[in-house]
Amino acid sequence: MRCTVFGTGYLGATHAACMAELGHDVVGVDVDPGKVAKLADGVVPFYEPGLEEVLQRNLAAGRLRFTTDYSDAAAHADVHFLGVGTPQKKGEYGADLKYVHAVVDTLAPMLERPAMIVGKSTVPVGTAAALGVRARERAKVEVEVAWNPEFLREGFAVQDTLRPDRLVLGLDHCRERSAWVQEHIREIYADLIAAEIPFLLTDLATAELVKVSANAFLATKISFINAVSEVCEATGADVTMLADALGYDARIGRRFLNAGLGFGGGCLPKDIRAFMARSGELGADHAVAFLREVDNINMRRRTKVVDMAARACGGSLLGANVAVLGAAFKPESDDVRDSPALNVAGMIQLHGAVVTVYDPKAVENSRRVFPTLNYATSVSEACDRADVVLVLTEWNEFTALTPTDLDPVVRSRSIIDGRNCLDSTAWRAAGWVYAGLGTP
Ligand code: NAD
Repeated sequence: MRCTVFGTGYLGATHAACMAELGHDVVGVDVDPGKVAKLADGVVPFYEPGLEEVLQRNLAAGRLRFTTDYSDAAAHADVHFLGVGTPQKKGEYGADLKYVHAVVDTLAPMLERPAMIVGKSTVPVGTAAALGVRARERAKVEVEVAWNPEFLREGFAVQDTLRPDRLVLGLDHCRERSAWVQEHIREIYADLIAAEIPFLLTDLATAELVKVSANAFLATKISFINAVSEVCEATGADVTMLADALGYDARIGRRFLNAGLGFGGGCLPKDIRAFMARSGELGADHAVAFLREVDNINMRRRTKVVDMAARACGGSLLGANVAVLGAAFKPESDDVRDSPALNVAGMIQLHGAVVTVYDPKAVENSRRVFPTLNYATSVSEACDRADVVLVLTEWNEFTALTPTDLDPVVRSRSIIDGRNCLDSTAWRAAGWVYAGLGTP
C-alpha cells in the first residue's frame, strides 16, 4: 500500500518507518526542513531505541522517503496519516489544534482523487467529525476522515507500533465511503491483524475518547499511588511495600503503581487538561473534575522534592551545590517536554542553588529549554562537591550507582531518590542520608 504520514516527530517518524517496515510505500512529511533532511539521511532526530535501524533499512529498500512538499505527498497516496502535535494552548487547558488544522487546510485542496485522512494525534472528542467537514469544504474531491489513535510509549515506540496491544479505528458511519476506508486500513495493518492483534472498529468519538481516557486512567493510577505516598509519609508506612502488596491483586496490577516524582512528558499532563477542557465545553466538566486533583497530586510531588532538597541542605538552598541526575521525563527517552526532573531542577535554581544536571540522552534538549542550568557530561562531574544528589529519572545508569561511585566526589553524603529506584538499605549502610518518597 502507499501512504503518507504528516508530522514526523516522535509519533510520525516512528509510524512512517514502521509502516515501511510492514512493506508499504511511505512518504513522511514535515514542515521542519532540518528534521526532514536528517530523516532522509537515516538519522533519527531524537532518541528512540531501535528506530534508526528500521529507518535506515527502509530508506535503503526504497520504501520510505521524507519531504516538506505537500503536493508530492498529496499525489503519492490515498491514505494520509496525521501525526502532528496537539500541545496545550498557552495559558489554557485546552488542546491547540492549529497544526492539525494546518495539515487539513493545506492538504485537502491539493487532493486530485478521493482520499482519506487518518488521524493518529491525540485530539479532543469531536475533532475528527469537525475535520471531516473542514476537509470537504476545502477539497475538490471526496475526502474521508477516520481516527486511529496511537498508544505507543516513547522508549518502546517501534515495538509498540509493530506489536500494539490493540488497534482502534474510528469511522464516520454516516459516510458512504466508510467501508472503503475500513478496507484500506485493514490492508495497511494486515500483518498485525493476522498476528491476532485486536482490531476494534468504533465511531469517531469513541476512538478519540479511547486514547484520552487511557491516558487519564494511567495518570490517575500514578497519582493514586502518589496520594497514598503522602499518607505513608505522614505515618511512616512504606509505599513501595504497599504497592507490591496491592499489585498482587490481579484487578489492580503492579504496573504504573510506582510512587515517586510523578508523570510528565508531552502526553499525560496535557491530555488530562485537554480532557477537562473539552468535557467542560460539552457540559460534562463535573464528570472528570477528579482529574484536577490527579494533576494537583502530581504537581505536589515536585514541590515536595524541592522541600526535601532544602531540608537536606540544612533548611535553605541558597548557595547550595545540587546535583540533578536525570532530565528526560522518563528513561529511554530524550524528551524533556513537561519533565518533572527539569521542573524540579528549575525550582531549586530559583531558590538560589547552583544546579548541575546530567542525563545520558537529554542534555541537548534540556539546554534549549533551560539554558541557565549547568550541564555535566557524566554522573561524577554533576556530583562534584554536591551538597545533595537528586535522582529524578530512573535511567539504568543511575539505578546501578553505588555509594562507592559517589563517595569520592560529593561534599555531603546525601541522596534524594525521586523515583524510589535505589537500594535504600545499601546507601544507608554506606553512611549516606537517603530520602525517598513515601518511604520512612
Ligand atoms: P512532536 O512535536 O514530536 O511532532 C510533531 C511534528 O509535527 C513536528 O515534527 C512538527 O514539525 C510537525 N508539524 C507541525 N506542523 C506541521 C504541518 N503543518 N505539517 C507537517 N508537519 C507538521 O509530537 P509527537 O510527540 O510526535 O506527538 C504528535 C501527536 O501524537 C500528539 O497529538 C501526541 O499527543 C500524540 N501522541 C504522542 C505519543 C508520544 O509518545 N510522543 C504517543 C501517542 C500519541
